[in-house]
Amino acid sequence: MYDTIIIGSGPAGLSAAIYGERAKLKALTLEKQPMSGGQILNTYEVDNYPGLPGLGGFDLGMKLRGHAEELGAQIVTETVVSTELTGKIKKIVTDKNTYEAKTVIIATGAGHRKLGVPGEEEFCGMGVSYCATCDGAFFRGKDTVVVGGGDVALEDALFLARGCRKVYLVHRRDAFRGAKTLQEKVFAAENIKVIWDTEVTAIIGSGKVETVSLYNKKTKETTELAVSGVFVAVGIVPHTELFEGQVAMDGAGYMKAGEDCGTQTAGVFAAGDVRTKQLRQVVTAAADGANAIVSVERYLYQS
Ligand SMILES: Cc1cc2nc3c(=O)[nH]c(=O)nc-3n(C[C@H](O)[C@H](O)[C@H](O)COP(=O)(O)OP(=O)(O)OC[C@H]3O[C@@H](n4cnc5c(N)ncnc54)[C@H](O)[C@@H]3O)c2cc1C
Repeated sequence: MYDTIIIGSGPAGLSAAIYGERAKLKALTLEKQPMSGGQILNTYEVDNYPGLPGLGGFDLGMKLRGHAEELGAQIVTETVVSTELTGKIKKIVTDKNTYEAKTVIIATGAGHRKLGVPGEEEFCGMGVSYCATCDGAFFRGKDTVVVGGGDVALEDALFLARGCRKVYLVHRRDAFRGAKTLQEKVFAAENIKVIWDTEVTAIIGSGKVETVSLYNKKTKETTELAVSGVFVAVGIVPHTELFEGQVAMDGAGYMKAGEDCGTQTAGVFAAGDVRTKQLRQVVTAAADGANAIVSVERYLYQS
């Protein structure tokens, strides 16, 4: 019987693992990937985590896991496939084992939102990608399109522009949501062309991506653009479907929880990108991991 089981070893789960060890809790962290770090593993550089300027996402993931393990954290590679969270004893079933715990910290993070257009699934891995830092090198000297208008889309365009001949940045509105500093860099890049008010409506090719269909919402015109790669950066969706019916969620699927990470289910805590919050970043995920452990201690020892 564990005091707490942490599901996920991104920044939130690893921070919880660190604080859990320091609090001398009997804790176990379950991670479905062979490596820890979550979404930051796909980030070229995390330039806004205080005290660690310019650190690569992969390196930060390794540092966080190393820190947790140095303190004695037990992190195993297992995928959680089902849970029973509403009773006093929580049951967690993975692809390899069944565990019981007094509390659970859900830190399963979030994943890429799909465009939902014809050709997207067919060409996934054959020109369609959700990670510029992972797949960008395959498109060196080629023309690519990035779809989106937030920080990730701008970062992806800038990253790809270092190796691609031309990067088209297609955004459905007439202004970006992303950080002003990133926007300045995008507008200054000679090989990035921004295409405003436009949606990608289909991805076309034969065996691999060859063109995308573009629909301009203002002019109502449809055109075709020849590209070898399509990088989709249109937001994220929380990984919460496993917990439906056991933990209260908002309309977008985020677990309803405040700064103490307490959900409406006793003994269940939501940390990081999975919970309702203003800002989803490494620094706020790490803060949640710490808060979740304090809430676990209060639940275990004061209730
Ligand atoms: C391309 C990109 C660039 C970014 N750049 C920055 C940046 O520069 N600065 C910044 O602060 N933030 C950045 N972010 C955001 C930041 O990465 C996230 O806010 C942060 O990783 C959230 O941490 P988390 O622990 O909540 O979730 P995640 O990082 O999503 O980690 C969740 C973990 O849970 C695991 N998991 C999920 N389901 C299961 C299951 N069923 N069983 C077991 N394990 C499971 C996953 O494998 C994953 O390891 C970026 C995100 C992306 C996608």
